[in-house]
Amino acid sequence: MNYLSTRGDPGRKRFCEILLEGLAPDGGLYLPEAYPHIDDATLSRWRDVYHSQGYAELAFEILSLYIDDIPAADLRAICHKTYTVEVFGSGEIVPLRHLENGIWLEALANGPTLAFKDLAMQLLGNLFEYELARRGEELNILGATSGDTGSAAEYAMRGKQGVRVFMTSPQGRMSPFQQAQMFSLMDDNIYNIAVEGVFDDCQDLVKAVSNDLDFKRKYHIGTVNSINWARLLAQVVYYFAGYFQATEANSEKVSFTVPSGNFGNVCAGHVARMMGLPIARLVVATNENDVLDEFFKTGVYRVRASADTHETSSPSMDISKASNFERFVFDLLGRDGARIKSLFGDALARVGQFDLSAHPAFGQAARRYGFDSGKSTHSDRLATIKDAYERHGMMIDTHTADGVKVAREHLQAGIAMIVLETALPIKFAATIVEATGREPDRPARFVGIEARPKRVTQMAADVQAIKTFIAEKCD
Ligand SMILES: *Cc1c(COP(=O)(O)O)cnc(C)c1O
Repeated sequence: MNYLSTRGDPGRKRFCEILLEGLAPDGGLYLPEAYPHIDDATLSRWRDVYHSQGYAELAFEILSLYIDDIPAADLRAICHKTYTVEVFGSGEIVPLRHLENGIWLEALANGPTLAFKDLAMQLLGNLFEYELARRGEELNILGATSGDTGSAAEYAMRGKQGVRVFMTSPQGRMSPFQQAQMFSLMDDNIYNIAVEGVFDDCQDLVKAVSNDLDFKRKYHIGTVNSINWARLLAQVVYYFAGYFQATEANSEKVSFTVPSGNFGNVCAGHVARMMGLPIARLVVATNENDVLDEFFKTGVYRVRASADTHETSSPSMDISKASNFERFVFDLLGRDGARIKSLFGDALARVGQFDLSAHPAFGQAARRYGFDSGKSTHSDRLATIKDAYERHGMMIDTHTADGVKVAREHLQAGIAMIVLETALPIKFAATIVEATGREPDRPARFVGIEARPKRVTQMAADVQAIKTFIAEKCD
């Protein structure tokens, strides 16, 4: 399998070459040259693999179609080391539970940091360790987080050979639980940096350091952000696992509603659908930051300025632009790299938007690719959380609530709607209390976490300071 860039660069790469890279050299995102297509017999075999051999073996089946430069036995071992009952809390790894008529929740948030990002990040940690050992190299991951990504990355990389993590976060902006999750890690290879500023300041710091190519090369700086293809690929697996739990035969279709921010999660659903998984609709649920809902409704993709990006009670969906969206638009426009370059490279940079409403392909987003969308606000979120608790005795988190709200508007008779549960309510306790008057349950391993000793370095939003810090830790 070869990988290409969405912006038309003629170069082709193998999986392990792009594993440790961020963007392609032309600024595009990597995608496979073609999606492998799954026939009915294979789908039946995978159904059986999942039910009789488990999630790890299903992951191996899917990943091995995209990864041909890691020996099969090694890749299988990596999958089995990653997807265990110990790490994810159940044999199904992503169990399905019934919410109400027609709607199911797929539990993706039972990993180490209680958000779905663990499912991809835990695999990434093991892939990185494997590939770095094979090359005899080191990697210093520099990231910016407003919560879930940073903690998932740290829990995936802690104790890994050859990897250090430098994670910046805006001082005082994460929930107390999220801060405690990250700052209580005492591993030697994990460095938390609380920056005096907001999330954008953290991102600007990361960009500035990465743009210093000499520094980047000398200190082996890398990232683990959501545009990484391996993360997206790992997420494809749970669309299959959800489908196998919700159906008994391949003639049945399901739909998914996906609480979305950077479009990484739902893009994995798009890939699963392109492979032939019988998905009827892929419903994109946004919060007040409705960049994506606006696109699917109007054909206009308009990125927001920082000042127009709302701070909401589903903060992991507070985005100004959806960094993985370019992948879908590449497929939508018939994989025309030159066109993507002019839209994402030029138009967005120049005027912050592009308009596909008059393009014949726009109608295909719904008709051919199954996309639909909806939006949820703070009051919708509160009402949905309260309702799920009072009528069904289920506590759901704020992001999942956005999904449930939108899913209810897109039900089709006879087609199961699976809402991806992207976090557990304990991560966003304040809003849960606001909605239900009760504290959410806390898994035993997190009892008292806020009181544990913290390891964090405070820093001004200063590029030189962070470079000096990284250099000190590496020498
Ligand atoms: C990251 C995240 C999202 C958004 O996922 P994308 O892949 O960026 O669309 C939604 N919910 C939670 C809890 C998250 O952590």
